[in-house]
Order: sequence, then structure tokens, then C-alpha cells
Amino acid sequence: MAEKRDYYEVLGVPKTASDDEIKKAYRKLAKKYHPDLNPGDKTAEEKFKEVGEAYEVLSDKDKKARYDQFGHAGVDPNYGAGAGAGGFGGGFGGGIDLDDILGSMFGGGFGGFGGSRQRANPNAPRRGGDIRVSLVLSFMEAVHGCAKTVSVSRQDTCPECGGTGAARGTSAETCPDCRGTGYVTVQQRTPFGVMQSTQPCRKCGGKGKIIKTPCSKCHGSGKTASTKRVEVKVPAGIDDDQSLRLAGLGDAGTNGGPSGDLIVIVTVRPDAMFERDGYDVHVTVPITYSQAVLGSEIVVPTIDGKVQYTVPEGTQSGTTFRLRGKGIQYVNGRGRGDQYVHVVVEIPKKLTRTQREALKKFEDSLKEENYEQRKGFFKSLRDKFEK
Ligand SMILES: [Zn+2]
Ligand SMILES: [Zn+2]
Repeated sequence: MAEKRDYYEVLGVPKTASDDEIKKAYRKLAKKYHPDLNPGDKTAEEKFKEVGEAYEVLSDKDKKARYDQFGHAGVDPNYGAGAGAGGFGGGFGGGIDLDDILGSMFGGGFGGFGGSRQRANPNAPRRGGDIRVSLVLSFMEAVHGCAKTVSVSRQDTCPECGGTGAARGTSAETCPDCRGTGYVTVQQRTPFGVMQSTQPCRKCGGKGKIIKTPCSKCHGSGKTASTKRVEVKVPAGIDDDQSLRLAGLGDAGTNGGPSGDLIVIVTVRPDAMFERDGYDVHVTVPITYSQAVLGSEIVVPTIDGKVQYTVPEGTQSGTTFRLRGKGIQYVNGRGRGDQYVHVVVEIPKKLTRTQREALKKFEDSLKEENYEQRKGFFKSLRDKFEK
């Protein structure tokens, strides 16, 4: 088994990092190594998986506590299981947990209650692994919700042998070394006396069974790989970095255990016109000088289409209007955010001579009373410097 990196190191956070810091680090890295943003890059794909695995553990209170105390062995039953344990299968989410780790560390070693501790039964049902896929959406698809199809490579129960791994008409035999338990007890002489420890059985690789004639289709693994297209209903209002969990669509379980889940991680492409802030939407609309001065009906884009909006007389550049309830649908509930319209006065460039003269004439006709800010500004200017 390959050496595993420390999960904190993977996410680049200290052990004292808060949930929020862990989440932030995960989001940043998941984005960086996202397969859609690094097409064909195997290293990025591996990193993406590694980051996801680290986050799965560090974002889960229980798993994190176990990881902090026991390292990888606390959360991954296969980790460091020793030679011959390659056939353990399962991976994450298996039914084996801390009890087994403690069982193999201390099992029977103290007090002579040999084997009284419960160990994982290799024949017990185990849940299949979760599968992560990524889904890239446009701003509008995320805002309104959509149906998308994703391609999922998953481990299915082998249809030929029904998951036993044995060829048709044959069945697996109970391992003689461990008598089907998957574990053997080993005695060792130590400075403290004879210590007993329990280790995964080498003969059967901890499976408790030996397959004499493997199934021709799955070669004894009991699993076959398949690629399925899965339709994902994306709810309206989903945001960048959020994920959807589709129960039971992950890898098939072992020994009749339930399947894992399919986790769809959503990336939302930025939009040229709309900017999202939580469930609120911001839009900037350029207006003309005379529209701002005289007031005007302007057209404002919203996520539901164009709407008319009356800009009042004397609107200053940079004024923000709120369109209540025109924002994004809450993803987990009723109600919507608001839309903010920022109006900015655009100054025309390259005027003709006639236009210049007309503007100059108009400018000359203006009095100080026509302005509010300028009046105050020049008054303080005088007070300061012309005593
Ligand atoms: Zn098979
Ligand atoms: Zn065995």
C-alpha cells in the first residue's frame, strides 16, 4: 500500500485549523485540481481525489477525532494492515472501525481474555465507497436549476457470480488458516513477556475465504467496473462549490452491504452580466448624463428576463437600487434574494464640434443652485483658504 500523506498536509492547514479554515482550504484546492479545469492531467486528478478524501475525514467530527488520535489507521481499516492484506477490499466506508484497530493492537494481549474483543467479520456486509464527480454549470443553469447527465465509473456487483467471486457452480471455501475469521493470532516474545497480537490472515488476505476457481468475469473480485450515465436534477439556487449527494449510486457494497453514494461537486462559471452574492444578484447598468439628470425609464436585466425601471430625476452616478425578491431562489427553502442595480453615468467621448458647443452653452447656463454637493464643497473651500 502506498504511503499516505498526512491529511492536514494535503489541505495545507495546521492541526489547530478551525472547521472554517479546513473548508476554505478544501474549496481552494478542489477548485485548483478540478478535473474539468485540468483536462487529461492525471496528477491533478489524483490530487483532486486526495484532497476530497482528506476533507471527507477532517470535515467529519468523529472521523477527525479518530484521525487525530490514531492517524490513517483510525479512519481507514486497510491502512498499514501489513503484507498480504491487499485483498481486503472495502476502502472507505467499510464496516470496520476503531474497535478493530484496538482489537488488533490490544486483542488478547492483556488479561488473557484472548479473542473476547469483537473483530470485523470479513463476511459481514460492508458499504460500498462514495464516488465523486464534478459538474460545471453556467450561472443561469445554477440559478434556475437544471437536469444534467454525468458519466459515473462505478464498481458493480459481478452479475456472473453475484459477488461471490467464485466461478459458476463452485463456491468459495472457508480459509483453513483463520477458519473464516480473516484474522490469525500471533505470539511474540517481548521484554514484557509473551505478547499476543491479532493480524490479518496472510493465506486468504483477510477475506476468510479462498476461491479455488475464480469467476471468469470478475477474476474473483466479485466486482465489475461499469460506466453509467446518471441524470442529476440540480435544484434552483445551487452555488459554486456546493455538492449534491445521490444516495446509493456509488460503488456496490460487499457481502450484500449497501452501495455508497454519488457525490456531485458543482462548479458555477462566472457570468458576464450578473454577479452573485449569496442569494442576491448585482448588476451594473450604464446610463447617460441626461437620463440621470432628467430621470428615465431604463431596461434592467434580471435572472428572469428584462424589466423596466424608472430612474428618478437627479440620480447620482453610483446610486444603487434594490429590486426586492428579484434575486436567487433559496436552494433549501422558500423565498428569494434581492437584485441590486448599480447605475453608473457614462461620460461620452469624442464629441463633435456642434455637440461641444451645445454642451458648453448648457454648462454656462447652470447656476450654483443647480448643484448640492458642489455648493457645499466650494463653501468649505472658501472657509478654509479665503479668510
Ligand atoms: Zn464474478
Ligand atoms: Zn485466512
